[in-house]
Amino acid sequence: MEMIETVKPIQHLVVIGVGLIGGSLALALKRAGVVARITGVGRSRDNLELAEARGIINDWTHDVATAVRDADLVVLAVPMAAYESLFAAMAESLPATAIVTDAGSTKQSAIAAARGSLPNPGRFVAGHPIAGTEQSGAGAAFAELFEHRLCILTPQDDTDAEAVQTVRAMWEAAGSRVLCMTAAEHDDFLAAVSHLPHLAAFALVNAVRKQGNDAHEPFEFAAGGFRDFTRIASSSPEMWRDIALCNRDALIRQLDAMQDELQTMKQALLRGDGEQLLADFTAAKTARDAWLKRQERDR
Ligand code: NAD
Repeated sequence: MEMIETVKPIQHLVVIGVGLIGGSLALALKRAGVVARITGVGRSRDNLELAEARGIINDWTHDVATAVRDADLVVLAVPMAAYESLFAAMAESLPATAIVTDAGSTKQSAIAAARGSLPNPGRFVAGHPIAGTEQSGAGAAFAELFEHRLCILTPQDDTDAEAVQTVRAMWEAAGSRVLCMTAAEHDDFLAAVSHLPHLAAFALVNAVRKQGNDAHEPFEFAAGGFRDFTRIASSSPEMWRDIALCNRDALIRQLDAMQDELQTMKQALLRGDGEQLLADFTAAKTARDAWLKRQERDR
């Protein structure tokens, strides 16, 4: 296979969890020509067979310990609750030279799990691609998912510099821009801009679905606004349960902040205070419009 020269080729990549994220990463790396062989590991035979049929992986197994035996690089792309048992399952057979990374949405919990179970946690580089959709499984994977998107790495003081460089090069080969920060910073920011919106979307759909009457159910009257706001409520419940629990403290702080905003709006409504509502709505619109402009400029 012809490898591109700027990135050190990965001889054997093991992707644990060949779903939207793991599958898309595999496709992107194959397309970039930086990996010779990809082994998929997962629970569902149907999903792994689909991944093989789509050319996402070269081979697959249900057995983590066997899969990682001659791996250069192992990527975890599974729900966060599976980390500890997977790290424990690979600990014995993982080569000392192998690098382990992940794509999970919370980073302090990923690092704690690696420290608890991996023989050499200095070779673990915690990562999080800021890209995704509400779809799941290998069927939803596509090579362009990470193009022009940010990927955050949260190396620790004792993380091996060469391991960080390899993982950085992998995400860059997939088309991402890579940024490093502390795991705590990551978890606080992502609680605000990702985890809270998912909870808000789940809560909104639940609040609305309970309000039907004998003649109608409320979704009949919903249009683009409701659809846009609630798109992420179609995400995997299992995955979001894990993310919420793994980032509980930061998420509770964000729920408090959101509740304060809602409370301010409720008080303004009770007072019939149009000025307060206008000020709140205008501040939100100004902040969002400016963010969209910056995004367009950076693209
Ligand atoms: P997904 O459901 O599409 O894929 C997860 C895969 O992991 C599935 O194929 C599932 O069968 C497999 N799996 C589950 N438990 C397993 C276990 N114990 N052992 C082996 N395989 C197992 O989910 P996804 O969207 O690809 O998310 C994967 C990870 O990426 C999650 O940690 C998530 O937090 C993170 N992430 C998701 C998004 C997103 O928008 N979907 C974005 C960034 C990061």
